[in-house]
Amino acid sequence: MTVNMKIIRRKARVVKIGKVYIGGNYPLAVQSMAKTRTADVADTVSQIKSLQAAGCEIVRVAVKDASDALAIKKIKQDISLPLVADIHFNWRLAIKAIESGADKIRLNPGNIYKDNELKFVISALKDAGIPLRVGLNSGSVRGLGSRKLSMPQKLVRSCLDYIKRIEKLKFYDIVISLKGSTVWDTIDAYRRIAKECEYPLHLGVTATGLPRQGAIKSSVALGILLSEGIGDTLRVSLTDDPLQEVLAARAILESLGLRHFGHEIISCPTCGRCEVDLIRVVKDLEDKLTTNDQRPATSDQRPTTKKSLKIALMGCVVNGPGEAKQADIGIAFGRGSGLLFKKGKPVRKIAIHNCIDEIVREIRKEQRR
Ligand code: SF4
Repeated sequence: MTVNMKIIRRKARVVKIGKVYIGGNYPLAVQSMAKTRTADVADTVSQIKSLQAAGCEIVRVAVKDASDALAIKKIKQDISLPLVADIHFNWRLAIKAIESGADKIRLNPGNIYKDNELKFVISALKDAGIPLRVGLNSGSVRGLGSRKLSMPQKLVRSCLDYIKRIEKLKFYDIVISLKGSTVWDTIDAYRRIAKECEYPLHLGVTATGLPRQGAIKSSVALGILLSEGIGDTLRVSLTDDPLQEVLAARAILESLGLRHFGHEIISCPTCGRCEVDLIRVVKDLEDKLTTNDQRPATSDQRPTTKKSLKIALMGCVVNGPGEAKQADIGIAFGRGSGLLFKKGKPVRKIAIHNCIDEIVREIRKEQRR
């Protein structure tokens, strides 16, 4: 018997970023960040389109100077994803980015904090009708004097102080992120803030490193938080191509059953008993399904795959039939052939060289039902 945990999500206030809603019962949105120089419009548009094709639903760009802020206008003409402008140090860039049509602004309370500066930015956000992400990172917390607090306590205290000042300006269209650079700091900070307010939470661990370490760190921290119902949108930060961030974020959501973007392929790790080149078979099937079936999520966050199926590919008869039986479609490989299962029932033997085409054919049949 398998156990299906029911995740009860924290009820967060709903915030709209371009065409995408987060909070409430809206699906957890996948975010990433372009790694191009924003002022290079062609490069940035091209990367954003690739991110969208991979399943990104909200994209952020760095705004380092006026040319980046002005470029937002041109970039927006060529993309359909909601665009977030990431602002540090210079509040005037936030105003310029808003005027250029950004769908959300991210401010860092660690480097834009003066009352008069905040007042101007909030007034521009109100006029444009767009939200603000109050985005804190453990590397840039400030303003807590000599108070002896842990890093998560500092992140939360600093965030709440900042938000109180924004609320005094009667602005509530807020998203929060409190990214620690360790798994435990991140978990602790988000758990604390989740109890203190109703604003939607953008989850992430900061500065995680290269893909393997970064994806694991993010999966552990975000997986624990998401399993507790905390989080409304997420970005997996990786020192890598941003497409990998999107794929990792989607895999985290799928593994918890919080979103379904396509078919789920399960396969055994293989061992000395394996009767087939399973790694190649799984990769071939994944490639075929990615090309044919798993078009990116649409802007209203509904995946376009018609029906998500569980497909099991198992290397031999030890665990093969058992796992294959629990899937919608499964193959337990033996010498020279595989036994095809559908909905737990053995159907027929298929030749190994033909197995990808056979599985795809079976998927189509299931989808037509
Ligand atoms: S299913 Fe068979 S080949 Fe795969 S890991 Fe288990 S024993 Fe090894």
